[in-house]
Amino acid sequence: MEVLLANPRGFCAGVDRAIEIVERALELFGAPVYVRHQVVHNRAVVEALGARGAVFVEELDEVPAGAVAVFSAHGVAPEVEEEAARRGLRALDATCPLVTKVHLEVLRFVRAGRPVALVGHARHPEVEGTLGRGRAAGGAMHLVETEADAERLDVPADAPLAYATQTTLSLDDTRRIVAVLERRYPKLEGPARSDICYATQNRQNAVRRLARDCGRVLVVGSPNSSNSNRLVEIARAAGAAAHLIDGPEEIRDEWLAGADAVGVTAGASAPESLVRAVVAALRERGARAARELPGEAERVVFRLPRELQRAAAQASMTAAKTA
Ligand code: SF4
Repeated sequence: MEVLLANPRGFCAGVDRAIEIVERALELFGAPVYVRHQVVHNRAVVEALGARGAVFVEELDEVPAGAVAVFSAHGVAPEVEEEAARRGLRALDATCPLVTKVHLEVLRFVRAGRPVALVGHARHPEVEGTLGRGRAAGGAMHLVETEADAERLDVPADAPLAYATQTTLSLDDTRRIVAVLERRYPKLEGPARSDICYATQNRQNAVRRLARDCGRVLVVGSPNSSNSNRLVEIARAAGAAAHLIDGPEEIRDEWLAGADAVGVTAGASAPESLVRAVVAALRERGARAARELPGEAERVVFRLPRELQRAAAQASMTAAKTA
């Protein structure tokens, strides 16, 4: 059995940055560092940071006054920032800059007096944050999850509707939903460039290629990871039997029975160490050494938030003085 690895796969620049923010905060301020929501949707990452002193909470009222609080990569509504300020928390914002881009776009539409259709999944923290941004600015925000939602959207046809999307959606599903909006709203305006981020697009293209070469595909990612679930759907739509696994212990022998090749990829929040562990587990089942497929090179890197850079500079000055 051959093992093929999708390229690119795994961590994106936004996830790298969010994890680094929590790690740096632990180094600079010491444990505990409170993190609102899972900083990224991956069990292994959350457990590793938890072991180093990160405490994951769902809401800020679980954080003691004055403590360090990190907002997750998915972004937050303005009332969360306001609550952090009111309670004197030292807030560090790990929102991915590509999510912030969507927030700014929505604000631009709202200020132009446009109602906004946000294409995304209900209750996903990124969607809640983006809806919250628009509503706090006085915008009429409408969540659209499916083509059927777009068909029955209760906004007059002559309204200057605008749309934005969650960053981790399926490109194909989103295209179909936007096509419905375009048909129903002649004045529709959308983002200048797709809101579906580069990492999501690249991983979706890579898994489609992988699924064409392998009848079986394993996607490493947690069940609550939106982009990992989309990779499974895309692999299945391309004809592969695809499964989402949080780690090697979830591989089932019956998935591999009779396979000549198995493809492995990982969602944007899944660490490469898990991919390696999955490959090792496949080799124990008799697979040959894994082969990387060619793919899009990614060079995107995001800077850390300014408040963290300042705190790090201050700490190194203090250390230099006491040395
Ligand atoms: Fe940012 Fe895209 Fe990664 Fe989400 S998946 S953190 S939007 S780069």
